[in-house]
Amino acid sequence: MTNARVLIVDDDAAICRLAARALATIATCDVAGDVDEAIRALGLRAYDVALVDVRLPQGSGMTVLDELRRISPQSAAVMMSGVDDLAVAREALARGALGYIVKPFRVGDLRIQVVTALAGAQRSTNTARLSARARIVAALEPLIRQGSSACVVVDVADIPLLSAVYGDAAVESICGHLQRRLTDFDPALHLLGRLGTASLVAVLPIGDVRRLTRAAHDLHISLAMPILLDGARIPVPARLGVAVASPEEDADATLSRAEAAADAARERGVPSVIYDGGLDDFSRIQFELLADASTAIDRGDLHAFYQPQIDLRSGACVGLEALVRWHHPTLGDIPPSLFVPLAERMSLMNEVGEFMLRTACGDLARLRREGAMTGGRVSVNVSAAELRCIDYPERVLRAIADADLPPSAIGIEVTESVAVDQSDTFVRHLEALARQGVRLSIDDFGTGYSSFAGLTRLPWNEIKIDRSLTARHRDAGCEMLKSMLALGQALGVDVIAEGIETHADLDALRALGCNYGQGFLFGRAQPISLLDTTSRRNRVAASLAQGRLR
Ligand code: C2E
Ligand code: CA
Ligand code: CA
Repeated sequence: MTNARVLIVDDDAAICRLAARALATIATCDVAGDVDEAIRALGLRAYDVALVDVRLPQGSGMTVLDELRRISPQSAAVMMSGVDDLAVAREALARGALGYIVKPFRVGDLRIQVVTALAGAQRSTNTARLSARARIVAALEPLIRQGSSACVVVDVADIPLLSAVYGDAAVESICGHLQRRLTDFDPALHLLGRLGTASLVAVLPIGDVRRLTRAAHDLHISLAMPILLDGARIPVPARLGVAVASPEEDADATLSRAEAAADAARERGVPSVIYDGGLDDFSRIQFELLADASTAIDRGDLHAFYQPQIDLRSGACVGLEALVRWHHPTLGDIPPSLFVPLAERMSLMNEVGEFMLRTACGDLARLRREGAMTGGRVSVNVSAAELRCIDYPERVLRAIADADLPPSAIGIEVTESVAVDQSDTFVRHLEALARQGVRLSIDDFGTGYSSFAGLTRLPWNEIKIDRSLTARHRDAGCEMLKSMLALGQALGVDVIAEGIETHADLDALRALGCNYGQGFLFGRAQPISLLDTTSRRNRVAASLAQGRLR
């Protein structure tokens, strides 16, 4: 063992230094100079071994042994003493110490005492844990045979700290509260009991990952409410590890996976992690993300970024496209290319769409009030799931009205691949919005199976040429570009080229008669606070005036 954690309790600084040096190759050491300091340290961190002097200022090392057994029963203790006294040694052993060493000691002897104590503690913890675990596995086995289910490990990592602060009786009461909350949460939940000091194990009769993710989210919220104890509200942060059970797998393996998921949740600082047995590592990461995705909106981790849309003739910023950004608490920024498919799988796109729509309306209304975007508009991307929703048009119109904006200030971007599948609901919903003046754009045009008939069935206001086609202005793709611009003209709709990255792109597009553009040349998507529509307008207008743009 090279990474054991040892607490050295001695008021003699020279002994502390000597012991820390002796153990440097096998342990990381902290030092406490008296009984109070030792008790505080034990409450803050779990130690594998405490090395305790018998005589301490204002107290005895025996008190530290008693506290150690109470706060952290799985830790080992070795007593140090200035006297070679058998009675003291016996008392220390009776109070749970696994070794006794007389000062001054040889460095090698101290190391052997600590290593032996560690091994002894490991054995007894394992035995106690194994029997609790065996009981839980035995109870789990028949439940997972009954049908689709999942094993849930509720990890209350703060139990050692709570025990140090409030005492054992309070901790028992807290665990009782948590157990009641678990059984109240769902009458079909089976509580299997406690595993170790800090975990509760339960089984939920749900095998579907999407429903499980929701359940884990709700369960986490109901467990997170502070517990009232003797008039004090005690917060008890718990994290959940969930493993989908498979009837072919043995219960022990299912429990291990739920424990691994709980460890992952703790390491990453997220409320819950779901581990699905049938998946490879990559899918597992996706599923962990899925669990987090369902809470992203509530946690405020989703943001709207905006990319300007430019009138290529005047250089003016005429609109903004709202693009979703997910800032994951531990993994950082998750791009929409990964997040949107996940959210679709979780049936979360309605919530994401509503969030983006309301945020975009609110932000545009503010920009208009501040005079930064008079007359400008904002467009949002819509997913197929949202378009299928029975009250989609009403929701859009309500969000627009709530922000006190005219419907013409909002554009809805429908990707070509979604637009191809024009069911009646889809057409009815978009027609209803168009009738009220909401602008309709067909997105990523040129990448899907667009048909002319499809294009004429709805009153589109705008075609957005996909950036893969924009980039091909120099070669054969140019013919495609030309025909799309001609198509736009024939239909009387605006054409906007996406992905304008260079001046060469811009010059070519303008030469072909494209009036609107969007791309890194004019600015990347950014938060509303960093967006400066007027200076961007000036910069591009100045560029036009200098003749860079024809
Ligand atoms: P999109 O609607 O075609 O959005 C344009 C994407 O191209 C954005 O990527 C944007 O940052 C990127 N882009 C813009 N200019 C340039 C450029 O000059 N060069 C290059 N290489 N890229 C450029 P982003 O933000 O990663 O979004 C990717 C896709 O995710 C979007 O493609 C859209 O289909 C989807 N998406 C984003 N936000 C939402 C949303 O709120 N709802 C829905 N349903 N889909 C969204
Ligand atoms: Ca778009
Ligand atoms: Ca696009």
